[in-house]
Amino acid sequence: MTMRTVYVNGNYLPENEATISIFDRGFLMADGVYEVTSVLDGKLIDFAGHAKRLERSLKELDMPHPAELPDLLVIHRELVRVNGIVEGLVYLQITRGAPGDRDFAFPDPETTAPTVVLFTQNKPGLIDSPAARIGIKVISVDDLRWARRDIKTVQLLYPSMGKMIAKAAGVDDAWMVEDGHVTEGTSNNAYIVQGSTIITRHLGNEILHGITRAAVLRFAREAQMTVEERSFTIAEAQAADEAFITSASAFVMPVVEVDGQAVGTGSPGPVAARLREIYLEESRKAAV
Ligand code: PMP
Repeated sequence: MTMRTVYVNGNYLPENEATISIFDRGFLMADGVYEVTSVLDGKLIDFAGHAKRLERSLKELDMPHPAELPDLLVIHRELVRVNGIVEGLVYLQITRGAPGDRDFAFPDPETTAPTVVLFTQNKPGLIDSPAARIGIKVISVDDLRWARRDIKTVQLLYPSMGKMIAKAAGVDDAWMVEDGHVTEGTSNNAYIVQGSTIITRHLGNEILHGITRAAVLRFAREAQMTVEERSFTIAEAQAADEAFITSASAFVMPVVEVDGQAVGTGSPGPVAARLREIYLEESRKAAV
């Protein structure tokens, strides 16, 4: 792989020259938040949505905002440009910084600046993914994460474990279940389709408020589709006509099997296909 240019605390550097402190609270305590913005046609998809959620995550954790929003957009665009990204993503992480020691108490923001890291990932073929044509298979796992999943923190150990449980079972991903209801996928929001109704869990502290979710539900409503924001069970998913997931990097991805049971025909359905098409078309038009 060619050497990327990445961004660390005000500097654009070759990736092998970028460093952060061993005392960084992101490293020691997962005290950090992140965003992933996809890039299509060399442009950022829904940057404003990601910037807004980032601000909310920082606020919920009492973390100072390190840079004005136009600066973050400039950095995103510059990394896309210098790394020649046409299809891919920009990863952004902000941590509470490196106070020079390990302590549970938050450092004084006047003396400890946040750490800001951004890098790109090149993903040619992101749109034309084979998985979107054949659909993915999921299994259910208990949702063992903390109770503030609405904050996009870098504590991703349990979602990683869920992904590994899925891989070990020979499937693509896991849907997490709490109190008998699906919360979300390891790194995506979960949906089922009953007839012409799209059902996805309501917002709350139990799930991440997906930027793709917000856009897809808006487009669905604009296209006169019925949307129900409520929780659903694995049995409902197995009996549904269709299922799918959304995320910034998967867009709309059909789910064709849940816990070994085919959903609908066992092939991607028309609602997910239509939503993927609308989402890609509309978000590319609005890309910056
Ligand atoms: N839920 C979780 C747990 C996630 O990690 C993600 C992706 N970061 C999503 C949902 C989807 O969010 P978005 O559409 O903003 O990528």
